[in-house]
Amino acid sequence: VAMPREAIVAGLDPEQSAAVLAPRGPVCVLAGAGTGKTRTITHRISHLVSTGHVSAGQVLAVTFTARAAGEMRGRLRALGIGGAATQVQARTFHAAALRQLRYFWPQVVGDVQWQLLDRKFGLVGQAANRVGVSTSTESVRDLAGEIEWAKASLIAPEDYPTAVARLRREIPTDAAKIAAVYEGYESSKVSNDGVMLDFDDLLLHTAAALEENAAVADEFRDRYRCFVVDEYQDVTPLQQRVLDAWLGDRDDLTVVGDANQTIYSFTGATPKYLLDFSRRFPESTVVRLERDYRSTPEVVSLANRVIGAARGRIAGTRLQLIGQRPPGPDPAFAEFDDEPAEAAGVARSIKKLIAKGVPPAEIAVLYRINAQSEVHEQALTELDIAFQVRGGEGFFTRSEVRQAVSALRQAAGRDDLPAEAFGTALVSVVRAVLAPLGLTAAEPTGAQARERWTSLTALVQLTEELTAHDDQLDLAGLLRELTARAEARHPPSVQGVTLASLHAAKGLEWTAVFLVGLCDGTLPIAHVLGDGGAADDEAALEEERRLLYVGVTRAREHLQLSWALARNEGGRKSRRRSRFLNGLIPDDSPAARIAPQASSHNKKRPRCRVCGKPLAGAGATMLGRCDECPSNIDMELLDALKAWRLDKSRELSVPAFVVFTDNTLTA
Ligand code: ATP
Ligand code: MG
Repeated sequence: VAMPREAIVAGLDPEQSAAVLAPRGPVCVLAGAGTGKTRTITHRISHLVSTGHVSAGQVLAVTFTARAAGEMRGRLRALGIGGAATQVQARTFHAAALRQLRYFWPQVVGDVQWQLLDRKFGLVGQAANRVGVSTSTESVRDLAGEIEWAKASLIAPEDYPTAVARLRREIPTDAAKIAAVYEGYESSKVSNDGVMLDFDDLLLHTAAALEENAAVADEFRDRYRCFVVDEYQDVTPLQQRVLDAWLGDRDDLTVVGDANQTIYSFTGATPKYLLDFSRRFPESTVVRLERDYRSTPEVVSLANRVIGAARGRIAGTRLQLIGQRPPGPDPAFAEFDDEPAEAAGVARSIKKLIAKGVPPAEIAVLYRINAQSEVHEQALTELDIAFQVRGGEGFFTRSEVRQAVSALRQAAGRDDLPAEAFGTALVSVVRAVLAPLGLTAAEPTGAQARERWTSLTALVQLTEELTAHDDQLDLAGLLRELTARAEARHPPSVQGVTLASLHAAKGLEWTAVFLVGLCDGTLPIAHVLGDGGAADDEAALEEERRLLYVGVTRAREHLQLSWALARNEGGRKSRRRSRFLNGLIPDDSPAARIAPQASSHNKKRPRCRVCGKPLAGAGATMLGRCDECPSNIDMELLDALKAWRLDKSRELSVPAFVVFTDNTLTA
């Protein structure tokens, strides 16, 4: 059903509309944070689907956040496209490749068994041992990181020494040995029993299958006809190769990105594809957006100053954001004596905001490394403030949610449901089905019961939201939506404050944002600083500055930037405010120095945030997870893999993928 043009462009400015309504073919939106890039691609997909150019199932959208996927579906639903809404494929590169490879493997490779490699450290360590390189945990971690960087950058083992010199302008003294470990690691994955594939192999094999097998390529290209990539500034050469393989000689590709938000270059990601797009596709529609719709002018001005101070700026990125929202409070700067005092102070401010009516789900505490979350978890718990670590991507793997989905599935198969079990009636059916699982009328006491209750309540609220859009929604429709959301790892909003790393916060927004731990050594992170604190590696330092820019631009209204002068309670004051804040704090309002409050931090034994086991050793505590478990960034893929293993009825174990997509490991 062709939608009127007005409905498609409603809520868009002229530049956004130009990108949305551009004819089929290459489109590139280059713009700063909060200018509506994600919104634009969402509307563009709706436009292409509703005008019949493609069907929803023919769209493959690569997004880094589940929110974008959810927004796309919501938008399609709002346009009255109904069932099609759940057919949009919105995934990360890895999740898309995993799905495709499972499908194509037998056709391309035959009956060779493959399995996902879940203990990379072991194989890397063995390879290191054979080559005579140190097998200390630290060394193996560094080696694994180098191998991942090389693979994402499409560098074969034998080319590693020259490539690393060319690309990073550094020549590790042991480049030849690293190359030998890389080589040894690669060959050890192949055995008589089959092959093991790591995350990067998923992408490599997917690209190779399409490049080398015409039948596979034809089938794939018939299935997917329109491609969209959000956050294109952070694509790796390997991901670009997959994208090229998907496209073939077609050019129905829309990309959006902001080179100033390149924050994954340590994994091999590069903004060059974004910046070269119009050269590669001379006939492309290129749109630049400047209006910032997300943040107050006060926040926008701070963001402009943060990025304006960047050195060695990437050509073509000199974009000034122009705030569109009404004025709000000035960003606050706060210094604390130590980290526990900082966490307690932030928790108190959060409590005040909640009392003023800001919903907890609209508040985030963002930090540089995952290990920083522990102290904030404790402080929030002390003030009885509900929180979720990261965006709650693990939602669909929680036991109460699995139970709820299966109970709803059973209910859908019953024929004694009231005939009118759809629209505003559907909500009461859902309530009735979830009641025996712990959905009491009032919020229960006890941490576990409360957690269950919160998840179940989130499901009910989601049902309410969905039925508000679509009054014909029935249980089957609800289950389809839940499945799509579980696949895209798009949880319903849980009523809690979000704790997330800056890397994980990309693309998201909150009414109130607390950027914490802004000390030299944390942001910028210690390893980019040389002895004496001078910047060792200017490029890496600038990436740290971009992380601050990403953090600042997540806030809609309230923004607080804080730091602590010591790590532990009453500790030696050895830390300094982040160098990135120099010149940003207004002279006439010196940073508020907040007296540390006597706090009664219960010194709970830290636990692994992935598997919950108590942590031993300072290293593990700093990482916030045990050696067996992957870094938090990998949780998204991990959830997908767990779900996959379950439906393959394989034994469920916690895979220990280690992918250096986050700097946690080098902290
Ligand atoms: P980021 O670089 O952080 O990913 P973005 O460019 O993708 O940001 P969006 O998330 O799409 O920005 O939009 C930022 C906010 O502004 C969202 O809340 C969005 O709904 C809103 N917005 C975008 N365009 C408009 C518009 N034309 N009118 C009103 N609000 C808008
Ligand atoms: Mg976005």
